[in-house]
Amino acid sequence: MTKWKSAIVDADRNKDWKDRLKRSIRDVKWSESLQIIVDKILADEPLNVTDGCILFECKNLNELGHLANLHKIAMFDNNAYFNSNVHINQTNICVLACRFCAFRRGPKASDAYALSIDDYLSELEKFSSFVNEVHSVGGLHPDWDVDHYCSLFKRIKKEHPHVSIKALTAVEIKHLSQISNLSIRDTLLRLQEAGLTSLPGGGAEILDDDVRQIICNGKESSQEYLDIHEVAHDIGLPSNCTMLFGTIETTQQRVEHMIQLRDLGQRTKGFQCFVPYPFLPDSTRLPMAQLSTGQEILRVIAVSRIMLDSIPHIKAYRMNIGDSMAELALQFGADDIDGTVKQESIMHLAGSKTPLDYGVKQLAKLVTRSGNIPIKRNTTYSEFEKFVPPKEPRRLPVV
Ligand code: SF4
Repeated sequence: MTKWKSAIVDADRNKDWKDRLKRSIRDVKWSESLQIIVDKILADEPLNVTDGCILFECKNLNELGHLANLHKIAMFDNNAYFNSNVHINQTNICVLACRFCAFRRGPKASDAYALSIDDYLSELEKFSSFVNEVHSVGGLHPDWDVDHYCSLFKRIKKEHPHVSIKALTAVEIKHLSQISNLSIRDTLLRLQEAGLTSLPGGGAEILDDDVRQIICNGKESSQEYLDIHEVAHDIGLPSNCTMLFGTIETTQQRVEHMIQLRDLGQRTKGFQCFVPYPFLPDSTRLPMAQLSTGQEILRVIAVSRIMLDSIPHIKAYRMNIGDSMAELALQFGADDIDGTVKQESIMHLAGSKTPLDYGVKQLAKLVTRSGNIPIKRNTTYSEFEKFVPPKEPRRLPVV
């Protein structure tokens, strides 16, 4: 079978993954600390904050990765997912000034920009024939209200009906609702009616208001982030969720962050993918940041997979961690590497060097190198196609 479908709520996860997982972990010889976790999984006991901290402190990263990878295999076998998408960041003008953000500009900055609807459509036109998703997030523009985004989304759907719109983070939704004088629910309903397919997960950072006050003062509170996603799920808009790590948070705060998302996902079944990404090194914006090593990135991916059993997919976000780390992460519990992307500003202004000219063939190669089978997916993880590389032309022997 090269093409298949899945209910959005399953997102292609094996329905009997818990039994498969138990069979695969039961007879492995685990270290003492991981055996505590394995025993709880075998007994169907939810993992708590202490368990999450035990996972983070596991001395043997390979063993932790092995446990995470067995979770991934129980859920998705050897499949790993990607999509053909383009990122268009509609404006960098923002009324806030989060300390970790290298992207935002004040309205008077010489390099501030705000794409008109026509300019946005011209950008999309360049990529539309080979993508099925546009991913759009940006600054909180002081004048753009819900009508502006409804007009934009309607034009996208009229001119490129095959393109799914994954757009607007929770803080953008909050901002739109405030300047449009609408409730969060009505804002989301208007956007959904205009063509919005799903919400990206950006802006969760760390769901702890003490941390948020320091790294992103003025943004939505932890509870507001959760509430906005809950309303989205309630009206049938699936979403992703994220974690920005390596700023000033503690291990416990990371685990508490995951548990809040896991519990909401358990209730609503609306989260499709968790995207953990490290703060990219920068000595000026957050000089007290801890920064993350390669080991730390793999550890976070692995712990995410083990803790977040209500969120099907774990993304190795190649725009942030780079292609080499993404390839490794696919052996440490991640099952998705996002997409072709083509253009992106937010991570690249923060220091990302990930190439933007990737095609589907190169992405598939990255997945194959990690020992997985490349599967092309749509935005909502409901349609899938096994990637079959085009046949190379046969070279005639030189005589
Ligand atoms: S992270 Fe988002 S809300 Fe914060 S300053 Fe940057 S663009 Fe604005």
